[in-house]
Amino acid sequence: MSEHKIAIIGSGPAGYTAAIYTSRANIKTDVFMGNQPGGQLTTTTEIENFPGFATGIMGPELMQNMENQAVRFGAKMLQEEVQSIDVIQADKPKFRIKTYAGEYEYDAVIIASGATARYLGLPNEEKWVGKGYHTCATCDGFFYRGKEIAVVGGGDSAMEEANFLTKFATKVYLIHRSDQYKASKIMLDRAKANPKIEFLPFNKVSDFIIDDKNNFSGVILENLDTNNKTNLNIEGLFVAIGHNPNTEFVDSLALPKDEIGYLIPQSRVNPEDRVSPFQTASSIKGIFVAGDVEDNYYRQAITAAGDGCKAAIDLERFLESL
Ligand code: NDP
Repeated sequence: MSEHKIAIIGSGPAGYTAAIYTSRANIKTDVFMGNQPGGQLTTTTEIENFPGFATGIMGPELMQNMENQAVRFGAKMLQEEVQSIDVIQADKPKFRIKTYAGEYEYDAVIIASGATARYLGLPNEEKWVGKGYHTCATCDGFFYRGKEIAVVGGGDSAMEEANFLTKFATKVYLIHRSDQYKASKIMLDRAKANPKIEFLPFNKVSDFIIDDKNNFSGVILENLDTNNKTNLNIEGLFVAIGHNPNTEFVDSLALPKDEIGYLIPQSRVNPEDRVSPFQTASSIKGIFVAGDVEDNYYRQAITAAGDGCKAAIDLERFLESL
């Protein structure tokens, strides 16, 4: 066993994959699982596009398998949420991680804390997540073959999701709170040209409609011009109003972020001037970043897992170089 002790913050595909690699490389690994052990995939149902599962796998089961795999090689799972990271020593790095439960010291850290999809803030919305109410069309669109559904949002994600969902749904309503769209022209034009998409501007979803069998059966729309409320009968609602990267606990480290707040690895800050040979290294020696917390574009389980693998290999080589 290496004398080094490292921390992985996050328990989604990036964090667990990193933990599988570091613990298998005999590095003492603590995983801070946060307040949603298993991450975003635990809120989805069947995952059909993660390679290796020919007949698909349920999101929670996939994450439990990843956790078990990391534990098998000795990773320790801590059901704690990280409050802060401090650099105690910079040259031969040492970091202090604080949680509500205690303080810990590490030689290197992988930040894989993910991003949280924004929800609408409707009454009892947690209850309908995965049961008519979704945030990931790639994950859950397939279940709406032949059905009428809606997407909320006016950015590129909403356009992309609406277009993607027309592969399955017979009709996709695109609900947006104004007629000004943040989406790029090309994405907006493509959605407008799609005969299965109907735009419903100046509308907000004010509640769910639940039928007498306690199933999701639509939403109540409020017209923001007239304040009139109407029922929209649909079988699924996809929300695409952006994600928030989970980075509050690293604010004191002043790591580079993009305009939305996603972390940027040093190799992308200025590729010409990179200070480290490692792609996933942050601007602080010994801290690596992986997964959705630094990826606002692909946001897939498999890409996050790949990032976690890269961060673990970078960390291993970094420790060897000390
Ligand atoms: P954006 O921030 O671009 O858009 C969010 C949208 O959601 C806006 O239309 C916003 O409305 C609306 N919104 C925000 N909060 C609420 C709310 N509470 N209720 C109702 N509507 C709300 O996020 P995206 O996820 O669409 O995109 C993020 C980034 O990823 C962008 O840079 C985008 O270009 C990129 N991206 C690129 C893709 C591609 O090129 N293939 C695909 C997907 C994303 P309002 O405008 O009124 O604030």
